[in-house]
Amino acid sequence: MEKIFFIDINALFPTLFWGNTIALIFLIIFRGANRLQRLPRLSLYLVIARLCHAIYYFVASGRDILPDWLSVNLGNTLLFIGFFFEAHAIFRLIKENTNRTDRLLRAILIVAVTAFNVVEALLPFGGIRITMASFGVVALMALSVVRMLLSRDSGALTKATAILYCVFLILLLGRAIYGLQNPNAGILATNILHSVTFLSQLLQLIIALPAYSLILKSYADEALLLMATTDRVTGATNRHAFMDTAAAVYKNCRRYRIPFAVLFIDIDHFKKVNDQYGHQFGDSVLVRVAALIDKCLRESDLSCRYGGEEFVVLLSRSDGPSAELVARRIVDEVRETRFEEHPEFKVTLSIGVAFGAPLLEKSFEEAINLADEAMYRAKRAGRGRIVMNEAEA
Ligand code: GH3
Ligand code: MG
Ligand code: MG
Repeated sequence: MEKIFFIDINALFPTLFWGNTIALIFLIIFRGANRLQRLPRLSLYLVIARLCHAIYYFVASGRDILPDWLSVNLGNTLLFIGFFFEAHAIFRLIKENTNRTDRLLRAILIVAVTAFNVVEALLPFGGIRITMASFGVVALMALSVVRMLLSRDSGALTKATAILYCVFLILLLGRAIYGLQNPNAGILATNILHSVTFLSQLLQLIIALPAYSLILKSYADEALLLMATTDRVTGATNRHAFMDTAAAVYKNCRRYRIPFAVLFIDIDHFKKVNDQYGHQFGDSVLVRVAALIDKCLRESDLSCRYGGEEFVVLLSRSDGPSAELVARRIVDEVRETRFEEHPEFKVTLSIGVAFGAPLLEKSFEEAINLADEAMYRAKRAGRGRIVMNEAEA
């Protein structure tokens, strides 16, 4: 029965070489099929990690015939680089990658590679080599794995992957101690600690690959959803997504007789802004106006870029006076804002507000039309102002 744990390293290393190579090919294909924002770095790191590990297991498999500089020095350096990228990928996966984690990992990599190669030159013993390699990998991976295990965002697959990583790291610590106690040990000698450690690497590969693919896929879906529901220029919700969400909110208001108001906001003389200062500046005005509108709203309010330089807002639980107050705040904020590029430039808004209990009897489109009509009245009355339009039964 104990045979089940005494797996011949001479068979396990080539298996890990093939496992990493297949994973590498799979990830490259996956990357090609999901060309979306945010993904490239993370999946690139996974690809580099698999590539380094595939080469490591290739040269480690041939340790008895290859020169030491290739199988030991280069092999272990690649092993460290592989785990360096794997740790980077994990930090990105759990969205905890920062400049600090980048710097820390780089420092650990430099220390691990230098220490391994210096010690190898001074004390060329198999056991010491095992100790140095094991410590290096643990140092590179420990923080990211612990964060992965504790991360609140982690789903079941991510947690399972983190647990397997932990088992691997604990076994590596065992190997580090074993190496110290047995300085003459060789890496290709089959013993239970070696077998189980590398077996856990194999299991890791089997579990981590689908886990990573699923997580990467969910990132891709998230990015796609964001692209489909937001406006590229301002980052505001687009009209399509707004109408969907607003319809649900509106239905709820009707059902529970919750008063609401609609604001139709239009930037004044926006064509002139483009003509006078260029389209790029026009775009930054749109971005600023969208942000200012957002700033004046509560979390429960909805807003969107409705058209070119038009925004629509749905204020739920809002009567005439409170809607007017919000509109006033938006008009004032925008009027007072200044742009670094053109300090003399001022922008004003015309806002139409539809409100009143009878709105609950109308369709949401009709409510928007009433606000739009009021906005046009604001334009005719001289722009830069608010016109209130109380709905009639
Ligand atoms: P009014 O005060 O009557 O609203 O005049 P206006 O010039 O703001 O209105 P009009 O509807 O004549 O012009 C809207 C302009 O908005 C025309 C169009 O070039 C510009 N526009 C629409 N979308 C964008 C955009 O995404 N970026 C930029 N820079 N301009 C845009
Ligand atoms: Mg307009
Ligand atoms: Mg306009």
